[in-house]
Amino acid sequence: MSDQNFRSILTGSFSTPCADNPTVAMIEAAYIHEGLNARYINCDVKADNLAAAVKGAKAMEWVGFNCSLPHKVAVLEHLDALDESAKLIGAVNCVAIKDGRLTGHNTDGKGFLASLREITDPAEKRVLLLGAGGAARAIAVELALAGVAHLTVVNRDVKKAETIAALVRDNSSADAEAKPWQGDVSVPEGTDIVINATSIGLGDPEAIPPVDIKSLTKGQIVADVIPNPPQTRFLQEAHAQGCTTLDGLGMLVNQGLIGVEIWLGKTLDGDVMAQTLEEIFESSGD
Ligand code: NDP
Repeated sequence: MSDQNFRSILTGSFSTPCADNPTVAMIEAAYIHEGLNARYINCDVKADNLAAAVKGAKAMEWVGFNCSLPHKVAVLEHLDALDESAKLIGAVNCVAIKDGRLTGHNTDGKGFLASLREITDPAEKRVLLLGAGGAARAIAVELALAGVAHLTVVNRDVKKAETIAALVRDNSSADAEAKPWQGDVSVPEGTDIVINATSIGLGDPEAIPPVDIKSLTKGQIVADVIPNPPQTRFLQEAHAQGCTTLDGLGMLVNQGLIGVEIWLGKTLDGDVMAQTLEEIFESSGD
């Protein structure tokens, strides 16, 4: 009998379209670096095929999968359990399969929080959150669970901002308010952390959210969720104002690390993941 093992641990992603999602390269580079016999398969799964894909992953004894658009809410009906923040966010982007049971997690906000914790503890901080889409909602929930004191959510569609503010107030001790985005947003005095959680800047190095840059103050932390290009114009201008900046590439790497920890119980090398993404983004010329 050979002691060789030709059976890989299987993980992957279900989304559509999926061809431009670089997560597979990032995670497989870290698997190889770690010497793991594990694979991450990037699958194009149309909305109508989600149930079959989930059943297939279970049948093939995958240990877990990520899901992205359009499955983050639709996947809920296929799961046996949800972790605390996924329940509050109402969306899942990471599923663990153990003993035939599927548990849903949301690593969007957790990835952001892991990056933020590298430079500050969000507890008792005052936060200005720009945007009220899926990423903003996930970040708001994690910030609330991490004990922020106050959250202001600014969005063009103020109803979406109000929904997030109410979610935070109802489920944590944090105070939260919503404001409509009119003209250039002025950062309120006493704000510790400013986060761009809009899609402004994605693939466009010139785009910048309408913010009164002069209202940013030295020592503030300014974060952007945009992973590519990581040094957005917003971060560059915040840096010039003396702010400490945090890019969206770190958030993406931390999501990968957290997902693999959930599936395999192993912490992989974040530097290998970051380097892989940087090379991909540089070579794509975006
Ligand atoms: P959504 O489509 O759910 O939300 C987009 C948000 O951006 C909304 O609040 C929208 O406002 C706002 N917005 C878009 N254009 C403008 C504009 N011109 N002016 C003002 N507000 C605007 O997207 P997601 O929340 O899922 O994703 C947002 C970004 O986060 C994406 O770029 C994505 O790449 C990034 N992301 C990064 C991750 C990472 O790991 N780094 C993880 C997840 C997401 P309105 O509601 O008024 O339309």
